[in-house]
Amino acid sequence: MPLSPDLLAAVEAFAGRPTLLVATDFDGALAPLVPDPSDSRPVEGGMERLTELAALPGVTVSLVSGRALRDLAVLSGATPEMVLLGSHGAEDSRHREGLALTEAQQALLAALDDELATLVEDHPGAWVEHKPAGRVVHTRRMDPVAGPAALDAASALGARHTALVATPGKEVVELAVAHVGKGAALLGLAEDLGVDAVFYAGDDVTDEHGFAALAANDREERAARRLTVRVGDGETAAQHRVADEHELVEVFQALLDARR
Ligand SMILES: [Mg+2]
Repeated sequence: MPLSPDLLAAVEAFAGRPTLLVATDFDGALAPLVPDPSDSRPVEGGMERLTELAALPGVTVSLVSGRALRDLAVLSGATPEMVLLGSHGAEDSRHREGLALTEAQQALLAALDDELATLVEDHPGAWVEHKPAGRVVHTRRMDPVAGPAALDAASALGARHTALVATPGKEVVELAVAHVGKGAALLGLAEDLGVDAVFYAGDDVTDEHGFAALAANDREERAARRLTVRVGDGETAAQHRVADEHELVEVFQALLDARR
């Protein structure tokens, strides 16, 4: 499908600003969702277009993901000039020292591991991904009844520990002991870089925080110059929508053409 005239006009206007942050979610936006998250790879042409964008003057490219920073770096094949924000912004590739958890956060993580071991026994097929600041319960390999029950159990576990931040996604629930959120992470990066305008694309609940935060940015000029794109269906606060990862690559190409 060709991109809508509205979206192309928005890309033209966006690309004309002096300095840009072009940020995107990884899974479900840049990389098609797959049953085993470790098999995930960027869609054809995606990283190539982003690498070309990152090489243009005044453009910073960022990948913003719930994944651990190390996973995101390996699976995406991002170049060093790209800024990677992992663990929903709790990890930042510009800060090599990584995460420093408090003793209380470490103790909470240990308690969480004990409880998740029981959860996995009770819900066969669910599995737990370890991240530096939390754990993620995955149910993508489970059937349509058992999967949601396991996610409910994970959310209930999160609710019992008030210090945990539970973030539901597509067939996942993340339980984090340190949480920034994609919205705050995007605004923080835009502020650090001092860019005039921010592009963000994503496909999931957590990305909606990004869309909403960019719309409500205190820097009203920057908020007015945002360009937000929801990938796939579902209710959204984004300004535009594309059908899938392939169409997002077309948006990157349009950005490149307009910027050049
Ligand atoms: Mg996603």
